[in-house]
Amino acid sequence: MRNLPGLTLDELTRELSSRQRALELLKWLGAQRSLPTALPEVVPGVSHRVWGPFREKHGLTTPTVVERSVSEDGTTKYALDLSGSQVETVRIPAKGRSTICISSQAGCTRKCVFCATKELGFIRQLKAEEMVAQYLLARSEAPADAPARNVVFMGMGEPMDNLDEVLRAVEVLTQGPFPQLKYQSVTVSTSGVLPGMVRFLKESKASLALSLNATTDEVRTRVMPQNKTWPIAALMEALREAAERDPDRDTFVEYVLFKDVNDTDADADRLVALLRGLPARVNLIPYNPYPGTGLETPTHERVLAFHQRVVAQGQLCLVRWPRGREIAAACGQLVLAQDGAGFVPAAV
Ligand code: SF4
Repeated sequence: MRNLPGLTLDELTRELSSRQRALELLKWLGAQRSLPTALPEVVPGVSHRVWGPFREKHGLTTPTVVERSVSEDGTTKYALDLSGSQVETVRIPAKGRSTICISSQAGCTRKCVFCATKELGFIRQLKAEEMVAQYLLARSEAPADAPARNVVFMGMGEPMDNLDEVLRAVEVLTQGPFPQLKYQSVTVSTSGVLPGMVRFLKESKASLALSLNATTDEVRTRVMPQNKTWPIAALMEALREAAERDPDRDTFVEYVLFKDVNDTDADADRLVALLRGLPARVNLIPYNPYPGTGLETPTHERVLAFHQRVVAQGQLCLVRWPRGREIAAACGQLVLAQDGAGFVPAAV
């Protein structure tokens, strides 16, 4: 049985025997200021005759907030309990809009060396309704002048390892009349799980963020072991094929900078060469230190020099200075210990 946040408009239409009733139900959900804990007895515009049986069969996914940490810049990290599994969600306010970073798995199947989430191991796949519920909860707490308009799947987990549920969540998040996010405002990140990435690029119109983090297979395999299976050239080829099919899709290339590992001038030049001709935007992310990895953050000057070298060669590139570092809500710090939870947002 699916709960309301995981149902598509077509499924609601079938369950309520009417498109109009399905639309009214979604309007009701969108009008709730805080996330309800149960389905109501009455929904305006939905007759009792069909609502009663629907209400008996379905519920609402309601995450319990175990902990809420707010950083000085307003970034809020939620430790959530979802049916006994803990995950983390981050709300990042910016001018005029907030971005919600959601988890797609409890723990993660991958072993990226720089990422705190891998310490948890893999606990379980999240359902689409649990992903959408993370958005609904964080949205309900977004400031009025910064509504939740963006979603990034960059919290805990590798979205391509739970792709059916992620695709369903993207469909629900982008459906009207609510939440009705634009496809360009929903970004799904991958550490480079090629079969899932290829399928995602064929089946979804949402944006993709490839977490690249190196310009040679040797270095990438060191920081992201699955590169042995899906090396850089294969990932680039998949991006090129997708760009030919759909030149309007936004693609982000995430590049976490590690001191003396992938931050040299030669790396900057190779990065530009790898992406030449691709409609991709690079997000440079200075590494957020995490104990025991042996990896360090480059100096501010080195980050700026890398950025300038990439931009000077005509590649669109931004530096994403970490948000919420003091509450461990920044990229690679999500782990649900006292210190922190997945891989957080650069495509915001
Ligand atoms: S960076 Fe992403 S894919 Fe890699 S271990 Fe962390 S959560 Fe998993």
